[in-house]
Amino acid sequence: MAYDLSFARDVYKNSEMGHWIKMCKQCGVCAGSCPLGPHWEFSPRQLFQMVRAGKKEEVLKSHSMWMCTSCYNCIVRCPRGLPITHIVHGLARYASVKGYADPDQVTNRFATRIFWTNIVSTGRVGEAMLTMRLYFVDGIAAGIKQGLEMKDSALGMLKAKRLNPIPLRGKIKGYAGFQAMLTKAQELEEKRESGV
Ligand code: SF4
Ligand code: SF4
Repeated sequence: MAYDLSFARDVYKNSEMGHWIKMCKQCGVCAGSCPLGPHWEFSPRQLFQMVRAGKKEEVLKSHSMWMCTSCYNCIVRCPRGLPITHIVHGLARYASVKGYADPDQVTNRFATRIFWTNIVSTGRVGEAMLTMRLYFVDGIAAGIKQGLEMKDSALGMLKAKRLNPIPLRGKIKGYAGFQAMLTKAQELEEKRESGV
């Protein structure tokens, strides 16, 4: 069977920071550094190798790249200096644009709808509202069940002052500038996607 490079070439060209994948030396430091390592179907190292091997369906149907929490551990440790976090998010975006991302997958819903709506409306992330929207997205019963399951984590975060329970009110100072920035970013993204 002929070795098909078309998927890898498209990722290098059209996925954000995708060209960096060529530089990966498969050392596995990123996989070992990722706090979510045990939960990934494929680690960043595996994803990058699969892109190079032309495994388009496996890569784009995987939930792995939606798991990244942007902790930057991998970037700090990669001996080749790959911007792994950005590559992984770029692959998620690429999968979404190509119609592979499952719209009901929870991290996809969170990233593309709930987080976006939360930040666009005021310019800041209201943690309490963000969590409520995420938990109750499948209805009241599902929300209560999930809230109860996560109560210990929530209490721990409250104690450590890592969660603000008070809903934030009002828009940020300079909201118009923030909106102009988003509009410009969307414009650039549309241009990039249409290849102009
Ligand atoms: S740490 Fe860097 S070079 Fe090593 S496998 Fe991960 S991305 Fe590749
Ligand atoms: S930035 Fe993402 S991929 Fe990298 S270590 Fe953190 S969670 Fe894992």
